[in-house]
Amino acid sequence: MSSKPGKTAPRLLQDLVTYDPRYEERAGRNLLTTAPPHLDPSAEPSRQVPIRNCRHIFMAKDEQSVRPKAGEDPSHDTVYKIAAVCSKCRWHLDLLVDFRDYNSENKPCRTNTDYPVHHFIYQEDNYPQRDPFGNQNVPRSYRFLCSAPSCPVELKIRLLPPRFSEQDITILTNKMHLRRRLETARQLGGDRADAHMARPVDALDFLNTYLTDALNPQKGKSRIPLLNRKFLKTFGKDCDKILRSLGFTNAQETEEDGTQVEVWYLPKPPPPSHPLSYDTERTVIEDARHELNILILGFPESERSGVRHPMIPPQPSAHDIERALGCLDYDRKSRPAARHLSYEEDHPYYAGLGALGDFSDPLLLFAFARQMQVDLKNSPYYFECLQEIAKGRKSSLLEENVAILASQGQCNRKELAAAYRFIGMEMEHAQHLSDDFIISQFRARLQDIGPSQAEESRVQLRIIGQARQSEQIKREASDAIETYDQALSWLDLEAAHSDEFVAIMFTIKVNEKASSKAIATRAVQIIAEYRNSQRLRDFLENGIMQGNAEMDVAEAYALFDINNRAEALDLEVLQAHKDAYIQGNPASKTKYEQAYALIYTDQKECHKVQNQSGYVPRKQYPLDSWPVGCQNIGNTCYLNSVLQFLFTIKPLRDMVLNCNEHLEEISPEALATKRVGRMPVTPEKAEKAQQFVQELKKLFQHMINAPTTTVRPETKLAALALAKTDALVEVADQPAPDPSLGQIEGKPIMGPMPKPDGLTGSTQADSVMDDDNDSTAAEMDIEEDYTKDLNTTTDGRPDAVSMPQPPSRPPPVPPRPQATAEANSTLKKTIEGLAEQQDAAEILNNIFDLLSCAIEGNGTLRDGEQDDLIKQLFFSDVTTVRITPDGKTSSNSALQDNYMISPGHRNRPLYAALDDEFSLTELESDKAAKASKFELIDHASPIQIINVRRLVYEGGRTIKDESHLGLDSTLYLDRYFRGTRSHPEEELQALREKQWNLQQRLKTLECDKKRLTETAHKISLSEAVEETSHLLENHARADEANLIDLDEDTVPVYPGLVTQLRDRAGELQNKSRSIVEELKSIDEEINSIFMDCKDQPYRLHSIFMHRGTAAGGHYWIFIHDFQKGIWRKYNDEYVDEVESISDIFEQEARNPATSTGIVYVQANRADELTEAVRRDPQRVDIVMKDAEEQYEDIQIINGVEQSP
Ligand SMILES: [Zn+2]
Ligand SMILES: [Zn+2]
Repeated sequence: MSSKPGKTAPRLLQDLVTYDPRYEERAGRNLLTTAPPHLDPSAEPSRQVPIRNCRHIFMAKDEQSVRPKAGEDPSHDTVYKIAAVCSKCRWHLDLLVDFRDYNSENKPCRTNTDYPVHHFIYQEDNYPQRDPFGNQNVPRSYRFLCSAPSCPVELKIRLLPPRFSEQDITILTNKMHLRRRLETARQLGGDRADAHMARPVDALDFLNTYLTDALNPQKGKSRIPLLNRKFLKTFGKDCDKILRSLGFTNAQETEEDGTQVEVWYLPKPPPPSHPLSYDTERTVIEDARHELNILILGFPESERSGVRHPMIPPQPSAHDIERALGCLDYDRKSRPAARHLSYEEDHPYYAGLGALGDFSDPLLLFAFARQMQVDLKNSPYYFECLQEIAKGRKSSLLEENVAILASQGQCNRKELAAAYRFIGMEMEHAQHLSDDFIISQFRARLQDIGPSQAEESRVQLRIIGQARQSEQIKREASDAIETYDQALSWLDLEAAHSDEFVAIMFTIKVNEKASSKAIATRAVQIIAEYRNSQRLRDFLENGIMQGNAEMDVAEAYALFDINNRAEALDLEVLQAHKDAYIQGNPASKTKYEQAYALIYTDQKECHKVQNQSGYVPRKQYPLDSWPVGCQNIGNTCYLNSVLQFLFTIKPLRDMVLNCNEHLEEISPEALATKRVGRMPVTPEKAEKAQQFVQELKKLFQHMINAPTTTVRPETKLAALALAKTDALVEVADQPAPDPSLGQIEGKPIMGPMPKPDGLTGSTQADSVMDDDNDSTAAEMDIEEDYTKDLNTTTDGRPDAVSMPQPPSRPPPVPPRPQATAEANSTLKKTIEGLAEQQDAAEILNNIFDLLSCAIEGNGTLRDGEQDDLIKQLFFSDVTTVRITPDGKTSSNSALQDNYMISPGHRNRPLYAALDDEFSLTELESDKAAKASKFELIDHASPIQIINVRRLVYEGGRTIKDESHLGLDSTLYLDRYFRGTRSHPEEELQALREKQWNLQQRLKTLECDKKRLTETAHKISLSEAVEETSHLLENHARADEANLIDLDEDTVPVYPGLVTQLRDRAGELQNKSRSIVEELKSIDEEINSIFMDCKDQPYRLHSIFMHRGTAAGGHYWIFIHDFQKGIWRKYNDEYVDEVESISDIFEQEARNPATSTGIVYVQANRADELTEAVRRDPQRVDIVMKDAEEQYEDIQIINGVEQSP
């Protein structure tokens, strides 16, 4: 594939306007056909276009043009030609845009399609463009093709030097020359000569007149006697060469009186030909006239009075050129109009992308994508361009795309150069080297460096592999570990270290650098095989190390007599300590080394030097009254959304900040009756949970006190929040979780609630993983047991049959292949994709669980479940009523902290999606029994979390449902309540039943619509029928033309069939239109049923957002500040006010960001329950006891006193 950058049409046009063939040498390159050299950010900014270059203003030469008409679309045989002349330098331009595609059904680029503008690649021709003698005044011609896959456009640009050279003009207009001519005329003509010399404008004017006559020949006007007085004093004999070059001819003639006279004859050009045909003598004359026109207009009006031809001001052809190139109204950034002619240049990064500074963000992304497509080799540079422009523009759309690209491994030049340097090469050279050579260099280098550097160099090699799109290099980067020794050294281990420690180092390495996961896994695999350790294999399988760890971080610190872990240590001093300890007690060498490694990594994590990337907040917000941003640690922006959300829940925040007053006493007595999520809480679990709360407290204090605009959540906090807390301690007495699920990149794959015993049916049932057939079945069994306790039939007797508990959600997605050991890795990949989507919801559940485990309860709920602040804020009591066809109902109540809804593949209001969950539905699992269920809220928590199931498993793959959920700023929950103040249960139930009937109708219609709109051919049924009628018609015609049947296969002709089909197509189309109408009106009717049910208003508080695909993307959160009445967007380190509210409530047209979680807060308590801003920034030199790590880094560095 060719690897050559291109230019979007607007860019090419801009370059054309500044390209001056006369000064090409000065520019150092051909501005039109070449891309600018890659910007060197460290060099002095330099001008791309020499100041002397003409900024052309092209004027139309209509008679030579085929102009596009306004509003006309080019067709399969369109060719536009814009002929023009620059009114400043008089160079001529022929711009030929050729759309001819010889009927290959191509689609030229145009606005509002995937290819909104052309992207031109210069096609080098084989003949030289320059004059061999260095003369710049020679014609140039350049050919470009559009790079869009189905765009046929070929562009030819021809530039021709002026017909009149500077010298010609001097001869024609210089006053000295004119005076001399007058004198010569007087000598020759005597009395007949004029008294006054010719004006400079006259030569041009006369010439113009002659040429006009030449183009419109009239009898008797073709001959000019040289002795004509005007001619003599204006041209004399000086201008012969000019006249001849224009096609004038001269001759000696004998007058009637016998005298010899010299005469000139006007040129005799051929008649006008089609503008697209070759240049003729006529073209030369037309060009000359255009130039004369320009030259004459260049005289001040006083000096050109009385010229023969009333001057018609030439018309600029900029619009025609833009229209022909399809960039008349490309998508511009909203700011004052483009400035094609300004001498001020765009930042070179724009030119790098073949774009202009006035491009809108989406168009810039298009330009970027085109460059990446045609010139992958330079992708790091293009990425850098995009990155820097995103920063410069402070555009969240661009920044999101940059973030997504970065998460996919895209790197910029700096990173790539660093990567090459790391393995001892220079980027500039390496680009010309083969993959094999680079790998051999890398291997050679591995021999001389230590294990820690080796790891890093593999990471760097991976970057190179990614940039070169080389699978071979990427493979080399991840599979470099082959032997047991290599595996140990990669993990910084020694043979004496235990399996436990192998697992610890694995986790640490992966935490430090998520991208090293593949290598780390390989290393542990090798160790597991070598040692034949089932525990390590299990660890790889499910992310859990069974049994107790030999040493934890606290112990490690204790071993070295270090009391204050929060303090940053001088690691060299620490190493000296270690050596001293080992000398004193060589038998415990392994133990000390382990402890040292643990402390080392703990220190690295806790005291990382602050991010020096030097991000400047886009808009300056007051430090002391604006929320802080959370820097992204690893691939976890959903975590930041969750943390920011929690911070704004005031009672929760206050509790965490004062957590020491609320922590549960960890003693067997205190924990004996404690139940969280229907599970007993072991001391280990409580301790873990309390560690988490302490970490969260630290973060919250940072968020309040940080003297900066951002804080960095600790990796430890993330690990605790993401880890499946129970797994470590509960594993012994729980059935092992499905071994194929475990942790992926440290994130739990199952719902955070302990799976088998889950009280909150919907919470865990809704984890995507439960869509796996097996686990659904398992969960149903367990819920069945649970149902036994609670179930009562309407007649009061326990429901002896005890049917399986109905799932509180729509039917599971189609089954996926059963995971086998071999298929594990691919399944894990799928799961990883799924898990990523659900993270925000899961992590929130996990955190609620941790908080409840950590704190003291203030009562008990059903089944001994601990009542506490978390329950009171987030958990609603929801009853599922199950109805069998014989009218028996049974019900079951559960506490749940969220509702899971589906967008349902169509844009609709939130109510409609909630209705799906709550209203009467047939139980898929129970089809035979024809049972159905609905749900009621018995008690609604003041904070309602609604999770949106965005991932759908369809046709063998996971896709994202991007349908829009319309949000109201106030949501009335009345219709889901059992009863309200104004509407007792019976009344509400009657309304509900009315609604269910309508919904039934809705469902039928949806099926009808599906049949009408979805056919196997990806077109609607009516279109299919219509197409068929066309086909038949064509057949019939072809048959008529042939007059005989050629073979037996011809379609039999039924008279009238074509018409019937066409009518039918029309009917179908009407039908589907009316269905859509009816769907809409039923939606409205359903909504109106509950019009006056407004006892339970909830106000929109926050929305978790995601942009990307099922495979990954970027998360952020919108949070409403009820005190200030504004919305903010929390996007990792940036917290910005949302300026246009439509960003939140409306859907974008392309790759829309979608809501994944929606939070409403009880209307009358919104102020009390939420508070978006709590800030009290401390100055840097005041070190807070609990929040010191963050800033201590600034001051410490080697300055820590170390007790000997
Ligand atoms: Zn010019
Ligand atoms: Zn195109």
